[in-house]
Amino acid sequence: MESFIRPLSEEFKSIYFIEGERNARYPYSHSMIFGDYLIDTGISPKRLRKVIKSFQINHVLLSHWHEDHISGNYLIKNKRFYCHEKDKPIIEDISKMNLYYNTENTPVGEELKNLLDVLRMQNTFVDYTIENDQTFQISADLDLQVIHTPGHTAGHCGFYEKNSKICFFGDIDLTKYPYYGSIDASLIEFEHSIEILENLDIEIAVTGHKNPIIGKSEIKEEFERYKLILKQRDERILMRFREFDKPINSIDLQGQNLIYTKYTIFKNFELISEILMLNKHFEKLEKAGQIIKEKNGFILN
Ligand SMILES: [Zn+2]
Ligand SMILES: [Zn+2]
Repeated sequence: MESFIRPLSEEFKSIYFIEGERNARYPYSHSMIFGDYLIDTGISPKRLRKVIKSFQINHVLLSHWHEDHISGNYLIKNKRFYCHEKDKPIIEDISKMNLYYNTENTPVGEELKNLLDVLRMQNTFVDYTIENDQTFQISADLDLQVIHTPGHTAGHCGFYEKNSKICFFGDIDLTKYPYYGSIDASLIEFEHSIEILENLDIEIAVTGHKNPIIGKSEIKEEFERYKLILKQRDERILMRFREFDKPINSIDLQGQNLIYTKYTIFKNFELISEILMLNKHFEKLEKAGQIIKEKNGFILN
């Protein structure tokens, strides 16, 4: 077996972690196999071809519409594709991505178009939509449950197998940079979805962009660290509110490392998604009564 394909359980032998190219750094992501079900196709074309050769895959579950999770769809022919109905329109028409990233008619939008071309991405016909709590009987001992976990995208789903206590979290990814920066994203929902996952009985957690996390206490620790990042973003934003003596709009806070403490090689994209993410924080802080909306922007309550 290729070294990037690793069994996750001694007891449940048809569950595998499939490591994405470059350890799943964008534009790649990790996948999983449960029996003849594959979750996500962004590991890299080369790796995906090997997976298709080594396993009989009949079903492809897509966690959400982002390109780094669906880029290999075109390599899988005549199999059944599944995703949540809210993400289906974009997976079926990837030209919508720029609209959802708010990058239309920007240099970043052009870069994205080029990337989709380089990745040879195509629209995918989605055969079935999936919804929360729906269960796939994979085998006598494996039932894979859909956990609708919106926030990262509106139709984002995790997948939970309760006998093995193994769960795929998708892009509630437990990395240093939680993302809720597309127009269909929501921080309020993102935090609620974290809570849903935290309350499941899980021994092994796999995410789109991190090595598998093994053990309940390790998973709990990762969740605490992840939630702290969100809290620190709130705090940095509130700090700015205390410093300003006029109403604030998200554009006033752009480029100040309030969301991304460090910009990466994707800085131009980050500056755009940062605005959207700041808006999601404003929405949350307003709902919590910490800031109020005035005619010219938000002020501290
Ligand atoms: Zn994503
Ligand atoms: Zn991702």
